[in-house]
Amino acid sequence: MGNMRRLTILGSTGSVGVNTLDVIALHPGRFEIVALTARSQTQLLFEQCLKFQPRFAVVLEPSSAEDLRRRVRQAGLSCEVLCGLEALEEVAALPEVDTVMAAIVGIAGLRSTLSAARAGKRVLLANKESLVTAGPLLMDAARSSGAQLLPIDSEHNAIFQALPASYSGHPDVAGVRRILLTASGGPFRLLPLHQLEKVTPEQACAHPNWVMGRKISVDSATMMNKGLEVIEAHWLFNVAPEQIEVVIHPESVIHSLVEYIDGSVIAQLGNPDMRTPIAHALDFPQRIAAGVQFLDLARVGALHFEKPDLQRFPCLHLAYEALAAGGAAPTVLNAANEVAVAHFLSGLLSFSRIPEVIEGVLADTDLGHARDLEEILAADAAARARAERKLARARPFPVSGARRRAARS
Ligand code: NAD
Ligand code: MG
Repeated sequence: MGNMRRLTILGSTGSVGVNTLDVIALHPGRFEIVALTARSQTQLLFEQCLKFQPRFAVVLEPSSAEDLRRRVRQAGLSCEVLCGLEALEEVAALPEVDTVMAAIVGIAGLRSTLSAARAGKRVLLANKESLVTAGPLLMDAARSSGAQLLPIDSEHNAIFQALPASYSGHPDVAGVRRILLTASGGPFRLLPLHQLEKVTPEQACAHPNWVMGRKISVDSATMMNKGLEVIEAHWLFNVAPEQIEVVIHPESVIHSLVEYIDGSVIAQLGNPDMRTPIAHALDFPQRIAAGVQFLDLARVGALHFEKPDLQRFPCLHLAYEALAAGGAAPTVLNAANEVAVAHFLSGLLSFSRIPEVIEGVLADTDLGHARDLEEILAADAAARARAERKLARARPFPVSGARRRAARS
C-alpha cells in the first residue's frame, strides 16, 4: 500500500463530489480529507464534515458560513469554516494537500482549479468548463508547476487509459490517428424534432444512463456536453479538432476510444458509473475498488453506434466552430450556454432555443483574446451580459405560474 493521499474536494456536495466520498469511504486509512467545499448546501456539507473530519470546510456566502459554523460548534468538531472565492483558492493550494478533486460546476470552478494546478497538485479534473474556458492557461500552469491533470470525465478518463502510459501530448509520436468520443445521445435522441420545444427541465434531467447534476444533464440533452468535451480533449491530449470524432453509442458501455495508425482501436468499457473513473484517478497508478457493479457483457447483449444528427444537436456544431475560431470563442460559448441552461432550468426559456441564444451571442460578440485570467473572466462577463440582454428582450416566454414562481426562488 502506498502513502496516504491528502485531499481537497472542491464541490463535495455535488454529484461527482458525493461519488468521490463514496469511493473514499471504501478505503479507510488510504485517504485523508483536508478540505471540503460547497456553494450553499450546509446540511449535506455538515454531514460530510461529521463523517470525514476535514480541517477546513468552505462555502460561498457569509450567511452559509455562519450556519455551518454553528452546526460544527454544536457537534464539537474542530473543522475551520471559511467562505468566499479566495478561500476556495486557498484550500486548493494548501501545502499539506497533494490531490485536489475539481468538481465545481461551470466557470465558477476555474479560479480554484487553476490555483491547484499552479500549486503543483495532482488535479482530478471533473470541472471541464475550466479547460474549455482556459485550456492553454491551465495546461501551461500544470506544465510549469509539474501538476498532473488526471481526467475524471468518463470519456477523457477512457482515452487516458487507452493511450500509452508514456503519452506526452504528441499524437504523431504515439501513432494516434483519431480520438473517438462516445455520447449517449441523451434523453431526446429519438424524440420527434417538433416536440423538443415543449420538453421540461425534469425530462431533460432524466438521463437514460447517468445520474448527474442538473447543468450537465441539460448539456447532455443538447449535446453541448459533448461539444465541451471535444474542446476538453483538444487541450488535454493536444489533438487537432479534425482528429476528434463524436459517435453516438446509446448504451454508454464504451466510454471512448483511441484509433492508432495501424488500424488498432483501443477502448475502455464499463458500466456507466462515475465511481470508476474517480477510483482510477484517486490512487493512480494503483487500481482500487470503486464499489461499482461489474460489466456483464452477455447481459448488455448488443452495442449500437450512429453518427450524431447536427440538426437535432446544433450545440455540438457550435462547439466545434468555437474551437476552430479560437481566442475567447470557447469562453463565450460556455458563458452563453451557462446562462441559457440556467434560464431553461428556471422555466424561462424553451429547450429548443438554447442553441439559438448561444449562436446569437457568438455572432454578436467581438471574440477577442483569452490569454490570461483577466481576459477570460472579462470575455465571460461580457458574454453573460449579452446573453441576459437577449433573453430579456425575448420574454415573455409563455410559462405557467408555477414555473414562474420556481424561476423567482
Ligand atoms: P453538481 O451541480 O451536482 O455539483 C456542483 C458542486 O459545485 C456542488 O458541490 C456545488 O455546491 C458546487 N458549486 C456550484 N456552484 C458553485 C459556485 N458558484 N461556487 C462554488 N461552488 C459551487 O455538478 P456535477 O454534476 O457534480 O458536476 C461537476 C463538474 O463535473 C461539472 O463541471 C461537470 O461537467 C463535471 N462532470 C460531471 C459528471 C457527473 O456525472 N455528474 C460527469 C462528468 C463530468
Ligand atoms: Mg463525459
